[in-house]
Amino acid sequence: MKRTLQWSAALAAGTLLPLGMVATTATAAPAPSSAAHSQHRLVDLPAKDALQEAVAPSECAPTLLDGYIDQLFAEMSDAQFAFLVAHQDVLLSVPTYDALFFGTAGDPDYALDSHAAQLRNTYRDLQRFWDIESDDIQLMAMHSDSLLDPVRIARTLEAMVDAGELPPMTDAAIAQEAQTVATFMQAQDEAFQDNPLWTLNAYAFSAEGETDPVIAALPDKLVFGDGILEAYDAIGLGDVGPRVIMAHEFAHHVQFELGTFDTGPTDPAEATRRTELMADAMASYYATHKKGLALNSKRVTDALLSFYSVGDCSFASPGHHGTPLQRERAADWGADLAAAAKPRSLVLSAERVIELFEEDLAVIIAG
Ligand SMILES: [Zn+2]
Repeated sequence: MKRTLQWSAALAAGTLLPLGMVATTATAAPAPSSAAHSQHRLVDLPAKDALQEAVAPSECAPTLLDGYIDQLFAEMSDAQFAFLVAHQDVLLSVPTYDALFFGTAGDPDYALDSHAAQLRNTYRDLQRFWDIESDDIQLMAMHSDSLLDPVRIARTLEAMVDAGELPPMTDAAIAQEAQTVATFMQAQDEAFQDNPLWTLNAYAFSAEGETDPVIAALPDKLVFGDGILEAYDAIGLGDVGPRVIMAHEFAHHVQFELGTFDTGPTDPAEATRRTELMADAMASYYATHKKGLALNSKRVTDALLSFYSVGDCSFASPGHHGTPLQRERAADWGADLAAAAKPRSLVLSAERVIELFEEDLAVIIAG
């Protein structure tokens, strides 16, 4: 594939900046910042993982989103693609981190646009469904227009450097990179300016356990990128995908609230697999439950399994979210639990669902 060769060349030339190299293959289920993630990565970046996958494909079967992402690469002009390779740390990270560090729910720059009503309704519904404190979570969007603004790019890069998400850069280097990217982006067509790749992400963030004072001061967040929503529309999962991903991300907030990240295996890969599979199970429980979304369990599983851009077979990686088969079993587990509710309207407490899941985790992993 043409683009793959170009990526390889770029990598051989050492263009890929460290943040990309940190990339574990994996998931999109953009992981929360938590003790479970030992690496300097506050949020996972699925598009970065997709690039890595383009260079060194894993053995995992492609997901529904993979083909879509390949197409996005293929549609770029050579100049655009070369620019992306050279400036990927800005293009693939800045909208995500801009929302993380500077976004607030009341700011129009981060207002939900695509799927807004659907996301807001599901969010409210989840707050009612799960018996945890969730009033303090800020629901917001991330848009790609931050990439047109040198000031927003610069402040985000600076915050990333300060947080250790990027290697040290001088103020002058940051200003120059910000200006270079903004100038290039302003001259591009809309397809490139608003490319779904820049915002192909959704994540839950909680500062709990963070020691950096700047990060520790950030409020709980649930952030949806325009790109992930556009991707779901494109692959025919626009009705279920966003709601199910919202449920997965909300499950991470339930875990934050109940201290789930503080217990479990000490091995980072095992720890992440446990909390990710649990989030899939909880999302499926909610999405198929009569008192939740009452969706068809097959559609829910499709949506959950597509929500990571590359096959996640990197078992030892701290970002490991479980193999597709394990994730499918976790989703089935949640749907079975919902179907077994007696009466059908009975919703178990979050604590009870987690407890039951822990009891079955070994079976879900082993198959
Ligand atoms: Zn997740």
